[in-house]
Amino acid sequence: MDKSVAVIPGDDSSPEAIEPVVELLQEILPSVTWTYPRIDGNASSGQATTLADKGKAQIDNADATLFGSTSGRSSLALRYLRWGKETFANVRPCKYIAGCRSPLRRPEGIDFVIVRENLEDLYVGIEGNLDELALLDRVGRTGGRHPSEYGDGNYALKVISEKGTRRVARFACELALKRNGKRTVTCVTKRNMLPKSDGLFHSVANEVVGQCEGLTFESFIVDDFACRLIREPQRFDVVLMPNLYGDILSDAAGGLLGSLGLAASGCYGDNYAYFEPAHGTAPDIAGTNTINPTATLLSATMMLEYLGHRRTAEKLEHCVEEVYAAGHPLTPDQGGIASTTTFVNAVRHRYFAGS
Ligand code: ATP
Repeated sequence: MDKSVAVIPGDDSSPEAIEPVVELLQEILPSVTWTYPRIDGNASSGQATTLADKGKAQIDNADATLFGSTSGRSSLALRYLRWGKETFANVRPCKYIAGCRSPLRRPEGIDFVIVRENLEDLYVGIEGNLDELALLDRVGRTGGRHPSEYGDGNYALKVISEKGTRRVARFACELALKRNGKRTVTCVTKRNMLPKSDGLFHSVANEVVGQCEGLTFESFIVDDFACRLIREPQRFDVVLMPNLYGDILSDAAGGLLGSLGLAASGCYGDNYAYFEPAHGTAPDIAGTNTINPTATLLSATMMLEYLGHRRTAEKLEHCVEEVYAAGHPLTPDQGGIASTTTFVNAVRHRYFAGS
């Protein structure tokens, strides 16, 4: 029996990219079942709202989820897909496609992947009032003032766990071994300012990479890395980062390629994965049918590979590349005048012409 995929189209412009891509995938792989989980919530303890059981079951019963970007209700599903399914590794490839409008003079050869830890860091969602930190001297601090000296204000908690770092570092190593790349894992932290949290991330990553024969470990402080990302992006292979830096710098990586609309992403756990474009919901162009569907198409190719349809994934990716190589039809973010559906149709045409 073939696989099943849950589809959550997302908000604003996002469904305008997801829908034509799903239609194309249905034609390419008619044996796959597509379900649309019901997204509504249960108010449980306090103010917390969680995805209702029906939506969870629909996601659980699928082999993977294709997720559009969200700014609203679908974030209930996103929370479940991340913390509920423990999808700890967010993989964001950054590969230059010939014909894309990169701001760089020589973008050729850019081909690296950011592996961002997906569940920890500042995204654990624990914030509070500085008063709550009155006892902080007992747990120690590595710099700055005592929280009481700042006056009124709030804090956010950054969590880096050994287990969480170890599993994402292993994932990065497996990816580096699988890729035909430079066999290097680059670890990016701010361990000079955050020796306990980022220091732990760095040392665990160093240890894990050190145990993998054939891999080289290198590391940069995040600000230095940001500069190198612009100056010498071709030198990177697999770049491992805690959650926040990965979130920010993968958008920068999308900018290197020429548009957020080109940046794909997949989030993997031990037993589940979901796939989503790295960009947001592009609310400013909602309703215009001009959102660039490339990020969604390339996220879908990652999903096809995860589902065991590697050849189909490669063929679909190749068709996307062919449209850029031809130079048309392209969406406005890439200097063209084509609509989203025209672009997807061009990919469809190439896919079936070549079969
Ligand atoms: P969100 O809060 O959902 O992240 P945002 O507006 O802050 O939304 P994005 O949705 O990523 O962030 O959009 C940033 C800019 O990039 C917008 O001008 C948007 O139109 C553009 N953009 C993002 N994705 C695409 C895309 N796929 N195609 C074309 N333009 C895009």
